[in-house]
Amino acid sequence: MRASGPATSAPSLDTVVDHLRRARAVCVLTGAGVSAESGIPTFRGGDGLWDRYDPAELASEAGFRRDPRLVWEWYAFRQRAIASARPNAAHETIAAMERHYPRFTLVTQNVDGLHQRAGNAKVVELHGSIWRTRCTRDGTVAAISEPLTSVPPMCRCGALLRPDVTWFGEPLDRTALETAMSAASGADVLLVVGTSSAVYPAAALPGLTRKAGGKVIELNLEPTPLSAIADASRFGEAGTLLPSIWSRIENPKGL
Ligand code: NAD
Repeated sequence: MRASGPATSAPSLDTVVDHLRRARAVCVLTGAGVSAESGIPTFRGGDGLWDRYDPAELASEAGFRRDPRLVWEWYAFRQRAIASARPNAAHETIAAMERHYPRFTLVTQNVDGLHQRAGNAKVVELHGSIWRTRCTRDGTVAAISEPLTSVPPMCRCGALLRPDVTWFGEPLDRTALETAMSAASGADVLLVVGTSSAVYPAAALPGLTRKAGGKVIELNLEPTPLSAIADASRFGEAGTLLPSIWSRIENPKGL
């Protein structure tokens, strides 16, 4: 029977492995924590980016209108950091999961593209991508392969280009959100990795899985608001936790 409310004792690693072993439909939801071990700072906590920068200036439409060059300088700086980073063991394990499960959806709040570089083919990017621009006049989206060297970039039509990411106060891409909601509702297991579970609507996805009878497993450095409703939470670095859990599924006899 499913426990309700906060767990009084942490379910064992065996329970986590068991849920993942039985699952046929798996959805993985990732946040900035999954890229932390690649050297990409998270937004909150520890070495969080928001301790050093003002989100209202750098990740909002109003801030962009005030100073597009400043906003683009920040995005170009992050592009350079991401371009020189590499996917870590957590990204690689999630790519192995996509190959393993017959029904698999990866939903990420990250904009860095590291999941695709690790080999995930189908990635639902809830908050967009730092590797795309969007025309501020007609919304045309274009891919960028290298960090920008000249900012702010302009569209051929003469309008400013903006990063194709979701800023504070903006709605998420509707198709991405609907795909994520449907994957979370249909998942036997939703595995939530490295997210503060503080940013909505992504933070609402675990509720959909639970409502439909699926299990929610959380992997994070520390407890989050999700910990109280997750079926199991394991605390530690994603790049250590995920491979150690996955090795028991790919290699059940420990051979
Ligand atoms: P967040 O910064 O709010 O939270 C990061 C979470 O990761 C925290 O709960 C932290 O405890 C956990 N964490 C840190 N290191 C970890 C590790 N090694 N292993 C496991 N967990 C670890 O990030 P969020 O929840 O993704 O939320 C917010 C927004 O941040 C999103 O909109 C996203 O677009 C944006 N963001 C993206 C990137 C990126 O693309 N890499 C980087 C920073 C922020």
